[in-house]
Amino acid sequence: MYDAIVVGARCAGASTALLLARAGHRVLVLDRGRPGTDKLSTLYIHQPGVARLAKWDVLDAIKKSGCQPLDRPTYQVADIHLTGPAPEADGNRAAYGPRRFVLDPILADAAAESGADVRFGATALGLLTEGERVTGLRYRDSDGVVRSENTPLVIGADGMRSSIAKLVGAQEYAVHQKLTCAYYSYWSGVPAGFEQYQRPGHWVGVIPTNDDRILVAAYFLQREFDRIKGAAQEHYLDNIRQTTPTLFERLQAGEQVERMYGTGDQLNFLRTAAGPGWALVGDSGHHKDSLTARGITDAFLQAELLAECVGPKEGGPSTDDALKRYLTTRDSILLSNYKSTLSVARLEVTEERLRMLRVIQESPELTERYFAAAAGIIAPEDFYTEELLPLAS
Ligand SMILES: Cc1cc2nc3c(=O)[nH]c(=O)nc-3n(C[C@H](O)[C@H](O)[C@H](O)COP(=O)(O)OP(=O)(O)OC[C@H]3O[C@@H](n4cnc5c(N)ncnc54)[C@H](O)[C@@H]3O)c2cc1C
Repeated sequence: MYDAIVVGARCAGASTALLLARAGHRVLVLDRGRPGTDKLSTLYIHQPGVARLAKWDVLDAIKKSGCQPLDRPTYQVADIHLTGPAPEADGNRAAYGPRRFVLDPILADAAAESGADVRFGATALGLLTEGERVTGLRYRDSDGVVRSENTPLVIGADGMRSSIAKLVGAQEYAVHQKLTCAYYSYWSGVPAGFEQYQRPGHWVGVIPTNDDRILVAAYFLQREFDRIKGAAQEHYLDNIRQTTPTLFERLQAGEQVERMYGTGDQLNFLRTAAGPGWALVGDSGHHKDSLTARGITDAFLQAELLAECVGPKEGGPSTDDALKRYLTTRDSILLSNYKSTLSVARLEVTEERLRMLRVIQESPELTERYFAAAAGIIAPEDFYTEELLPLAS
């Protein structure tokens, strides 16, 4: 019998499986997709996420894939231009933006090498239950055969529309209306770093990735989605041109090498993290606007927390105790950055914010702390303190 069955083999599921397998547990991982496929994402992994990849011995594989270290962020809005060395998390100063068909298979392979039984083309269909308790999973394997497995722990790592969350009836809370919509594409022949640009209601981000390509993303307010989606390419270029004419000029010297990708469907919620015999990690348990690029890093933090709660196979706590701890502690690692995402994704540029950014711009120390707060290295409330806020008034 498996000690845990994980549904979903991308950044949340594969990393949870990797950690549980390394702690001695027998783990089955199922994903209905094929290995090595792409998915909607602007790819950016903040330093705390990179620190987890280093700790799990998979960072070297990501570096070898050819995506460059992003160690000098820039952010421009109005007359303000913040730049400086990237902040450090556990000795890691660089962020990375690996393609998802690079990152996710590296994690799934590392889970398999750690002893997890990773199977693609396998779809979770339903739960086995005894009363309120989840006791196993019914799934269709890659040959179309429907199978059942008993297990004391089913982990939903199956994304924002999680069927495991639905099946267990996980409650949604801290729900917020959708805030932005995003379009992006890939360019080659354009020298760039990790760059962010803002004007009221608009945001542009640049993330260098594999194969000497850069991802250029344009964000709009959610209420613009219906207007934009019919002519996404045109609105995308127009957003870049108006938000950052210098980047637009740089792009003219390069080439757009892939189609447009985009979505107006970015929900904001938390779901109950765990119950008897089940837990949720990654987007299945918490989804938010992608503007602050926190989904992958948050998936790693949740995977790490759940694995810590479950503990080692020999001498660890009971599954019930582990899940109670995960249930009661998970939000403490997510809430403050969730609040800050909801605030940033409003895409407001207030005079008060500009005054504060002008103060920050004058100080390399404050600039580094600004980027550390954006990366989730320090809590936003520890940066926007009572000392800083009056300086802007
Ligand atoms: C436009 C956009 C840009 C983004 N940019 C960033 C960014 O720059 N940085 C960042 O950190 N995050 C970003 N994110 C968020 C990030 O992509 C997600 O947070 C992350 O992919 C969540 O990983 P996950 O493993 O929880 O879920 P997913 O990546 O959604 O994986 C879920 C897996 O579950 C599988 N699955 C689903 N149902 C079943 C089933 N019934 N049976 C078997 N398998 C199943 C699916 O096949 C899938 O492989 C972005 C998101 C969007 C939409």
